[in-house]
Amino acid sequence: MNLNEQQRRAYLEAIGIDVWVPRGEVEPDVEVLADALVPGVDDLDWNTLRDTVSACTGCGLHRGRTQTVFGVGNPDADWMFIGEAPGAEEDRRGEPFVGRSGQLLDQMLAAIGQSRESVFIANIIKCRPPNNRNPKPEEASACRGYLERQIEIVDPSIIIAVGKIAAQNLLGTDSPVGRLRGKRHSFGNVPLVVTYHPAYLLRSPSQKRKSWDDLCFARGIVREMSA
Ligand code: URA
Repeated sequence: MNLNEQQRRAYLEAIGIDVWVPRGEVEPDVEVLADALVPGVDDLDWNTLRDTVSACTGCGLHRGRTQTVFGVGNPDADWMFIGEAPGAEEDRRGEPFVGRSGQLLDQMLAAIGQSRESVFIANIIKCRPPNNRNPKPEEASACRGYLERQIEIVDPSIIIAVGKIAAQNLLGTDSPVGRLRGKRHSFGNVPLVVTYHPAYLLRSPSQKRKSWDDLCFARGIVREMSA
């Protein structure tokens, strides 16, 4: 299938017309579809970006969602936390990290004198994957422009990549969290620190100390930047 045909199908799908793919024909490339479906995201202001996300059909996940989960907090925050994807509770409430791991994240925020109102919390993808499976690479790339625009607008002093999926997606690596944490990375011009996902910390509470170290390390970077 050539690019024009892919774009044609993408636009048809975007306006709600089912695209019929003859048996045996290769499915359209989701990444190309996403590019076709997300025009001009780079110029959108916050509210228009939020509205665009809520209407997005850039990958198959839109079919199973209750609503998109854009993010929560202060769009002018110094700290931006980026997790993986909404779970069942987040899909229901339209807010990231509201389940058990969210409660732990709230405690971690409180420990550094922050709250979900003072930071901004987003995810790599805005729609819930079925059965809480990991996001597929093509789903993450379909959402990538939205996240990049969010980061651009928030313009945080630091990004905290929360867990393996966020860290690997943001840094373009396969390395495990254990190897990525404790270092200063960057996403564009923004310093980035990797820490464990609270869901992992709930299963392995002995690692909480390390995640506290990560947040202290990040706080040092923020202080250094505002000095
Ligand atoms: N886990 C995440 O990574 N993000 C959420 O929003 C909820 C759970």
